[in-house]
Amino acid sequence: MVALTENIDAQNLIKELKQKIDDFLGFAPIGIYQAGNDGRFIMANPEMAWMLGYESPSQLINQMKDMASQMFDTIESAEKFFFHLFEAEQVRDFRCKLKKKNGGTFWSNSYAKRAFKKDGRPDGFYGFVMDISRTVRIEEALYDANAQLLRIATLDGLTQIPNRRKFDDYLNSEWRRNTRDCRPISLIMCDIDFFKPYNDHYGHQGGDETLRQVAQCIASNCRRPADLAARYGGEEFAVVLPDTVVDGALIVAENLRASVKSLKIPHEYSKVNSFVTVSVGVSTAIPNHKDSPKTLIEIADTALYQAKKLGRDRVFAKT
Ligand code: GH3
Ligand code: MG
Ligand code: MG
Repeated sequence: MVALTENIDAQNLIKELKQKIDDFLGFAPIGIYQAGNDGRFIMANPEMAWMLGYESPSQLINQMKDMASQMFDTIESAEKFFFHLFEAEQVRDFRCKLKKKNGGTFWSNSYAKRAFKKDGRPDGFYGFVMDISRTVRIEEALYDANAQLLRIATLDGLTQIPNRRKFDDYLNSEWRRNTRDCRPISLIMCDIDFFKPYNDHYGHQGGDETLRQVAQCIASNCRRPADLAARYGGEEFAVVLPDTVVDGALIVAENLRASVKSLKIPHEYSKVNSFVTVSVGVSTAIPNHKDSPKTLIEIADTALYQAKKLGRDRVFAKT
């Protein structure tokens, strides 16, 4: 009699516990499952089923015959997941796309652990899955916004070529790199001739348009991937030519001057030509730890001043 009562008590307790576990699994906002050695679901909570597009856990368990091909979006993801699971006996923070019953996909983050029987034989695995589509969308938007911000922060708004900030960063880093490699670096400073009278007569908008054209012309003359043309300020442009000796820099500078002139932008108020022209200063140095790139800028500025003094629309180099 006592044994029978104890048995009923135990059964009630098991029933109660089972109900508690079902409530717990039913309320869980993440997918929870248990799978057998054959990779088929044995148990899944409602969220696991809904996440994969099934109406109920029993539908998921009956219809998903092979996790690797039916649940993972790519065979590579499935292989990686099971490789980690069998190598390390557990998987943590595993990000991949999972497939829904209707063929749609979503980003997931998984945790899984192998299970073993008391005698040490494998007993499948269990795991937790979170739908992180929203997080991934936010991450992607953030990444795009950052890239856009970086672009805006380093581009000159008017001419759409790199701005002064980008120029400073680039010259500093190339100075350091060329110091390490003991390679020469050249700098071209370029200034539009008689731009103040141009603005005064053609108006600010006309001046802006000319600045855009000259900027694009200068940028298109920088052909090596390491060359960088930037708007230095106002109507001045600078070109960094890493690993370039003075003779090479002079060729680029002369091409630049001739190209701007060949744009044939009328400038009736210039004292040197009937078209817009530029004066160009060139400096070259073999960088070292003692000097800073400031020296290179100062020398190019002095060379530019000389080009202006000698009559404008010309190139002057100083090393
Ligand atoms: P020089 O031949 O000696 O270089 O004479 P300059 O008239 O070009 O030199 P100055 O430095 O006196 O004039 C530069 C002018 O560039 C002043 C300003 O009218 C014009 N400028 C500077 N920035 C801008 C800009 O963003 N847009 C426009 N439209 N004009 C600008
Ligand atoms: Mg100027
Ligand atoms: Mg000028």
